[in-house]
Amino acid sequence: MATKKGPETVKVVVRCRPISQLETSQGHERIVEMYTDRGVVELKNPKEVGDPPKSFTFDAIYDWNSRQQDLYDETFRELVDSVLAGFNGTIFAYGQTGTGKTFTMEGVRDDPEKRGVIPNSFDHIFQHIARSQNQQYLVRASYLEIYQEEIRDLLNKDSKTRLELKERPDVGVYVKDLSSFVTKSVEEIQHVMTVGHANRSTGRTNMNEHSSRSHAIFMITIECSELGADGKSHIRVGRLNLVDLAGSERQSKTGAQGQRFKEATKINLSLSALGNVISALVDGKSTHVPYRDSKLTRLLQDSLGGNSKTVMVANVGPASYNFEETLGTLRYANRAK
Ligand code: ADP
Ligand code: MG
Repeated sequence: MATKKGPETVKVVVRCRPISQLETSQGHERIVEMYTDRGVVELKNPKEVGDPPKSFTFDAIYDWNSRQQDLYDETFRELVDSVLAGFNGTIFAYGQTGTGKTFTMEGVRDDPEKRGVIPNSFDHIFQHIARSQNQQYLVRASYLEIYQEEIRDLLNKDSKTRLELKERPDVGVYVKDLSSFVTKSVEEIQHVMTVGHANRSTGRTNMNEHSSRSHAIFMITIECSELGADGKSHIRVGRLNLVDLAGSERQSKTGAQGQRFKEATKINLSLSALGNVISALVDGKSTHVPYRDSKLTRLLQDSLGGNSKTVMVANVGPASYNFEETLGTLRYANRAK
């Protein structure tokens, strides 16, 4: 696969959520400073107050005042436009549990100001289709999760079976037997999302814990057929992957053992594999992009690199007790950019 580094191939942005009431009431200080005009994030080490803050620079950064709509317009819209034009695109939310990955991807339901990139992309896609004149569109949605390197269909609740990854020259890498639903409106695709959500938490006693350990991927495939100047109909297909990653926190800190420990190593494995793939793509000189190192990167192989666009949102918390994890996320993001 081509690993040409286009100017807009991979974009990494950092977002810091507001300090919470609980954190304030417990006396935690904000140790993150953001200079949004320059893309500079500074992090103070609460244990080494005399030290200069650690400083990082990114394509774009979003502080605690950032609005969901601004992120969409500035950071995501172009990627979704390119999917509508027949290319693949992937949006990742990375970060420690509790830093705003799900807020960024899904947002708060029923609050239009707080809708995340997923519902905003639904609107964008169907508005585009409604305005189009000479094209026919077909939109399909799938929803899956990767838990412990096993793929599970979230739109087929009877299926406890793990699905397999396959590859064919004509379609590339795909998940065998994954359900996919044709959706003709925002309401229909929203419904698919809701059903998948319900299945995700079925039988889970602790949904928060589960979501912190699994990757959820909402996939939208957009097929467009258009009558060309040659009088023949041309079809182009773009795929949008919307990925709420497992929490990036180091699991060893929590003293994980046995089953937990096995889980932890697998989570870390796919996140580090993703970091390696993205940094190889960004580097542009790497002849080998290690897609095969995890299910996540293998599954997204055809949507990372080449003509595809990728946006990674690295989410961090502002409070002092998160120093180590925030530093880890900023380093990961810095390496990926
Ligand atoms: P994660 O998915 O990374 O575990 P969440 O998205 O669940 O984290 O966010 C944790 C909490 O912080 C939620 O209550 C969420 O509503 C809130 N939150 C996260 N980011 C923001 C933000 N940018 N603005 C306001 N609240 C936020
Ligand atoms: Mg979450």
